[in-house]
Amino acid sequence: TATTETYTLSLHDALPIYQSSGFLTRRKDAMRIKIPRPVQELAKIFKTRGFSCYAVGGAVRDSLLGKEPDDWDLATDAKPEAVGSMFSNIIPTGLQHGTVTIRYKGHSYETTTFRIEGTYSDSRHPDSVEYTTSLEADLARRDFTINSMAADPLHGEVIDFFGGIEDLGKKLVRAVGNPVERFGEDVLRTLRAVRFAGVLNFDIESGTKAAIKVSLAGFEKISAERVREEISRILLAPVPSYPLGLLVDTGLADKIFPELVRCKGVAQGTMHRFDVYNHLLSSCDAAPPVLEIRLAALFHDLGKPQCRKAQDGFLTFYGHESVSAQTAQQIITRLKYPNAVSELVRLLIENHMVAYDDSWTDGAVRRFIRRIGAENLEYFFALKAADAAGMSGTKPEFRTIENFYNRVKMILKEACALGLHDLKINGNDLMRLGYNRGPLIGRVLNEMLEAVLDDPELNTHERLLCIAESLRKKYT
Ligand code: ATP
Ligand code: MG
Repeated sequence: TATTETYTLSLHDALPIYQSSGFLTRRKDAMRIKIPRPVQELAKIFKTRGFSCYAVGGAVRDSLLGKEPDDWDLATDAKPEAVGSMFSNIIPTGLQHGTVTIRYKGHSYETTTFRIEGTYSDSRHPDSVEYTTSLEADLARRDFTINSMAADPLHGEVIDFFGGIEDLGKKLVRAVGNPVERFGEDVLRTLRAVRFAGVLNFDIESGTKAAIKVSLAGFEKISAERVREEISRILLAPVPSYPLGLLVDTGLADKIFPELVRCKGVAQGTMHRFDVYNHLLSSCDAAPPVLEIRLAALFHDLGKPQCRKAQDGFLTFYGHESVSAQTAQQIITRLKYPNAVSELVRLLIENHMVAYDDSWTDGAVRRFIRRIGAENLEYFFALKAADAAGMSGTKPEFRTIENFYNRVKMILKEACALGLHDLKINGNDLMRLGYNRGPLIGRVLNEMLEAVLDDPELNTHERLLCIAESLRKKYT
């Protein structure tokens, strides 16, 4: 039997013992989590006013998993106005949903009045929100059992009406109640299920997973921003191919990026172990957890199905990098990512076929750096490496990429001109030489940069003045 001392262990530490002893099902309500001091203090303030206050949702789940929660959400039977009157520093974040944010000792606490939700006629927002004084009713409206637990901040005891602790132990994402109904109320939950599975490396319980497939009507009504936030978290999961595969299996991918689904079964010939789809997923796994690189890795060959040609018994994909870049940009724009993200991903994909060998002149390397931009080089090489790793699915041959990378670093160290700003001459100098304000100045500066990229010794004020003078004679 468990001693009182072990009650304070987190589930993460405790699981192996408790699972084998059947403790979880017998004594699950005695589980405790560590509550930060300010949360305890807040709960005491509620209590002295005659209200209850619980930590809910992600903070309870993550504490039980042995992770330090980033933020603590609270639930209370106090109405928003009552909460407002208890604290001096309140932000009315979502009054229509009963949510206010309490600013307390430098932290923010989203505090929501216990509520039950009315019917959903739009697959996303309840038609009405009704307050309740029942914690259980409030927990019942939450999406998954692992998100439906509460904890009493005073002692940290976990309150678990729907089997959340058991599902954490089994590593399962399971809808609270009837999954078809729950997804029918709010179709965003289908995507959240995949996100939690991916981020936590959990399975989706089979009934819940089957329900996703039949619940996708109305998915188009979700705002692009909400879908984007979920997709970003899916891409940054430890092994993104797992939730991405779930998106495809459940039909969610058809709604979000059908362009990726179209790569399934597109064979690539003898050099490749995978079809295009599996190559993209495996490249994404190999990419470091940086959003732009994961996006580029996942989308870098989307154009292959369109560009695939059989030629003398070989498969070719000429021009696929441009088509892929365009297609990726369409998806990324559709998901309303910032322009900077879309531009960087386009640049990376468009250049992912750049094939370096040691015969490149220094000028060619400098031209390449100018095209990619020095600030984007690390992203470029990360994508190259991910692409190579995704080809074999095993340890790849990185030597060419390494040579390329070292060569680029050498050139950067020489600190020679790589852009117009680095030239030891500018437009004003040209006008002093007698050039008229206008497009010719830009053209001449670019021409001089080309010369300097090949021969950095030309980059002195005197020598460039000479060149500019002779170009002026040539052009006027
Ligand atoms: P994280 O913050 O890491 O994403 P979380 O569990 O805190 O995880 P939130 O989106 O912040 O997730 O939501 C807080 C809680 O609100 C959830 O744990 C869940 O109980 C509930 N919840 C959030 N979104 C929904 C939804 N669409 N349907 C039902 N319940 C939801
Ligand atoms: Mg949260």
